[in-house]
Amino acid sequence: MLVDSFGRVAADLRVSLTDKCNLRCTYCMPPEGLDWLPKPALLTADEISRLVAIAVERLGITEVRYTGGEPLLRREVVEIVARTAALRPRPQVSITSNGIGLARLAAPLAAAGLDRVNISLDTLDGETFVKLSHRDRLADVLSGLAAADAAGLRPVKVNAVLMRGVNEHEAVRLLRFCLEQGYELRFIEQMPLDAQHGWRREDMVTADEILSILTPEFGLVPDDPGERGSAPAEIFLVDGGPGRVGVIGSVTRPFCGACDRVRLTADGQIRNCLFATEESDLREAMRTGASDDELARRWVAAVRGKRAGHGIDDPSFLQPARPMSAIGG
Ligand code: SAM
Ligand code: SF4
Repeated sequence: MLVDSFGRVAADLRVSLTDKCNLRCTYCMPPEGLDWLPKPALLTADEISRLVAIAVERLGITEVRYTGGEPLLRREVVEIVARTAALRPRPQVSITSNGIGLARLAAPLAAAGLDRVNISLDTLDGETFVKLSHRDRLADVLSGLAAADAAGLRPVKVNAVLMRGVNEHEAVRLLRFCLEQGYELRFIEQMPLDAQHGWRREDMVTADEILSILTPEFGLVPDDPGERGSAPAEIFLVDGGPGRVGVIGSVTRPFCGACDRVRLTADGQIRNCLFATEESDLREAMRTGASDDELARRWVAAVRGKRAGHGIDDPSFLQPARPMSAIGG
């Protein structure tokens, strides 16, 4: 098992399939993009599948989420999902995507064994979409959402990051849209993980603010109070249900004490936290002949050193050198 020195057990593995992306969301990447990882540095599909198998079969991972960058840009994504769903004990398999490409891929991914998707949608306004992501792709995201729903990847979860003066006024509209479509919306506080290091606390729309925007419009009652467990979102039933909304206060309401996540970057580094400043290199170990036992031992050691919390509020806080797109959000 992957246990850290505080007794937390990592059971949820996030795997970045690529650091590349077809959008440039301002809270994540600069408009000109980034220097992508060179191809030889990326894990191959076989290497990813080998590490995921070790995680599931030997290390107690029960949920595998593929992310990035934009995971659907990885040509082998359907094959990687199929190999993951064939593992025993069978893990839950999910993808976090910006939705572009899902119109084509939702059905094959569902057939390959994908259980769920989280799709990022920060605005329903075409102009704001361009301002926010530097690409005119709102229609592709919306058709991706519809395709995920039609392929049975339900409940389709939608992630939204609100930014002051950009899209915070769309909170109510986004929730109405998701309720109408049967999608489950989660608002996520903006974290200091952008490549430009431009995060400012004052620009972050906090969980408290999000709730104060929503409560005049909707009846919100905590769902399963006290049962937040390791799930980061605080979930509310909307207007008596069945619709629900989540608020993820990663910065102001941290859930580090119950965190059960561990991450594998697209270049084969284990990160025990989004905000970790150290990584453990499984790629080189694997390429220089390490056995599955040895890789599992290294993975256990990497998780053992996980810090108690992200420390964003500590004066000594240092933003990690890798941005969100290269860590795997
Ligand atoms: N490209 C895919 C997408 O956008 O869903 C997957 C990768 S993206 C890094 C994963 C999630 O992280 C998205 O929901 C995105 O909104 C979120 N994200 C990116 N940068 C963030 C930041 N600085 N703070 C909070 N969430 C962020
Ligand atoms: Fe791409 Fe996702 Fe980052 Fe937006 S948040 S730039 S879609 S990786």
